Amino acid sequence: MVSLLSVPANSYDTFDDHTLLGGVSSRQYYLTASAVANIETATLAGVGNWNASAAPVNWTIASEANGEVVFNWVQSNATDACALTYWWYDGVFHSYPEQNWNWSKVNIRSLIKNPDYCGPTGHRQGIVAHELGHAMGLAHVFSRPAMIMYVWVADTSVNDPGDDDIEGIKHLYQVRPPKLEQLIPGSPHEQADPHPPQHSRRRGRSLRNLSLVVLQRQQHREHLPGQ
Ligand SMILES: [Zn+2]
Repeated sequence: MVSLLSVPANSYDTFDDHTLLGGVSSRQYYLTASAVANIETATLAGVGNWNASAAPVNWTIASEANGEVVFNWVQSNATDACALTYWWYDGVFHSYPEQNWNWSKVNIRSLIKNPDYCGPTGHRQGIVAHELGHAMGLAHVFSRPAMIMYVWVADTSVNDPGDDDIEGIKHLYQVRPPKLEQLIPGSPHEQADPHPPQHSRRRGRSLRNLSLVVLQRQQHREHLPGQ
């Protein structure tokens, strides 16, 4: 008898493996005042679903207008999306990340409170988790409705990242078991780490600048694709 070992292919997708600069562990997110007023509970829950997953991510809320993901509330009943993610690099927001990015903005639309399009109240956190997946570098999957990155996640009851979503994050941020020499104190690798921790965190970004960019984007809203 012939025994075949089959390894199932992971079904996540990425933006050509581009990533959030600085990784996804020990990062911060922020809610604008309008997000706090309109969608705070679901946003905290959606981020918490990633933190509670087996993905190597850790998001804590920032106390000031700073962070690698900013959740914003937008009055819009356009029915093409319950929320949209944008990626910031080269000094502007992009609606598709063609290179690594510094941080992301998630516009949660008021449409999210319309159950005909975005599901019941308890599913809003799933939409937030989906957008955070985008902000970390995961793209849509089209045939796996059990995944948080399923393109029509609003039509499902999925609120938590699935195994393949988690594998996607591990792939992007190259989580591997430590090498033996890295476990031995005083080994040469400890002094010659070619990838030292990043010490320069951005602190200069202000909410005023964010609002300016939001206004700039609104002037070009007709070019925004649905997500
Ligand atoms: Zn999406």
